Amino acid sequence: MTTINRNYLKLPGSYLFSTIGKKVREYSEKNPGAEIIRLGIGDVTKPLSESVTDALHKAVTEMGNEETFKGYAPDLGYEFLRNVISEKDFKERGCDIEADEIFISDGAKCDCGNIQEIFGMENRVAVCDPVYPVYVDSNVMAGRTGEYDASTGRFKDVIYMPCSAENDFTPEIPDETPDLIYLCFPNNPTGAVIKKDKLQKWVDYANEKGSVILYDAAYEAYISENDVPHSIYECDGARNCAIEFRSFSKTAGFTGLRLGFTVIPKDLKVENESLWNLWARRHGTKYNGAPYIVQRAGEAVYSEKGRKEVRAQIEYYMGNAKIILDGLKDAGYTVSGGVNAPYIWLKTPGNMTSWEFFDMLLDKANVVGTPGSGFGPNGEHYFRLTAFGNREKTKEAVNRIKIM
Ligand code: PLP
Repeated sequence: MTTINRNYLKLPGSYLFSTIGKKVREYSEKNPGAEIIRLGIGDVTKPLSESVTDALHKAVTEMGNEETFKGYAPDLGYEFLRNVISEKDFKERGCDIEADEIFISDGAKCDCGNIQEIFGMENRVAVCDPVYPVYVDSNVMAGRTGEYDASTGRFKDVIYMPCSAENDFTPEIPDETPDLIYLCFPNNPTGAVIKKDKLQKWVDYANEKGSVILYDAAYEAYISENDVPHSIYECDGARNCAIEFRSFSKTAGFTGLRLGFTVIPKDLKVENESLWNLWARRHGTKYNGAPYIVQRAGEAVYSEKGRKEVRAQIEYYMGNAKIILDGLKDAGYTVSGGVNAPYIWLKTPGNMTSWEFFDMLLDKANVVGTPGSGFGPNGEHYFRLTAFGNREKTKEAVNRIKIM
């Protein structure tokens, strides 16, 4: 008889975005004149830059030509892209990462979700709370988390590391020793960053305990402060304990085009086995490479013109972030994030629950955001707004919140 992977049944329904959608639909039906402004989505709104579309057009032409046509891409990515990433994202920042330690993929979500496959089932997983749900759910599916406890909103065998205002939304070393430590900085949903000295402590700890850090740097391009590390490989010893995930989604507007990469240093060994080898094997077996045209588009992001263009897009979004941050501060809210990340994390007023605040914001300001409780129990009494909207609408949303 066929059976299913029953671990999937442990996953609590992901009601967050469907509940948001339902509430907004119902509100719009009751209030057809309401002009709703959405600052909830984590998706970019600016179109691809000229360098990127030029590279795409050129690559499409090559694909339509017998002499320049390309079939399957190399398993781990084209060298032209891996070389430029190694140079510009790592060596220019003093990080010793070679091109052949970079695995090109179609985005960070798949890589963050799939990476757990190369680790044993006995590993204890640690995640931040609040958290980007992929880290937890992919381990639930694999059977590494134990049962879900609805009363705490937590899985029995996962180590949750609370991130709150008290620790600047960066996790402390937990009492129990984890084997796999998921860290995400700049953080979704809190917008927090980790300073280099604190990240170095995590790297030292992982090396001491033999743990592996899975470092999600999908929002690295949003870092504006000098003392914030762009890569975990800026820390001494990280080559021996860390894997890093990057994405072109928020850096260059590739959410619909799809491109990312994972870095696994060749020095990184567990049980004396190279994780590079295991991931290369997985890539070769289960993945057939990001499209040539998209890898050429990715390469264009690193050209001088491409870099200027994507920088301008990020500055536009971060201009929105500043408007939200300053506006909400003026209005008396306790806010964080929004300086090195496109997310603003605000404390709900009067100890309202995240969902009570969602309803009030929708009703009184016609603004949609994301309840913090949707990212984990420690997100309760918090709310996420994003800077990915249009400038005028962002200003209007802030004005409405101020007079709400
Ligand atoms: N990691 C984090 C923390 C994210 O917030 C997101 C997207 O929202 C991703 C990864 C996914 O990136 P990609 O679009 O490359 O799959």
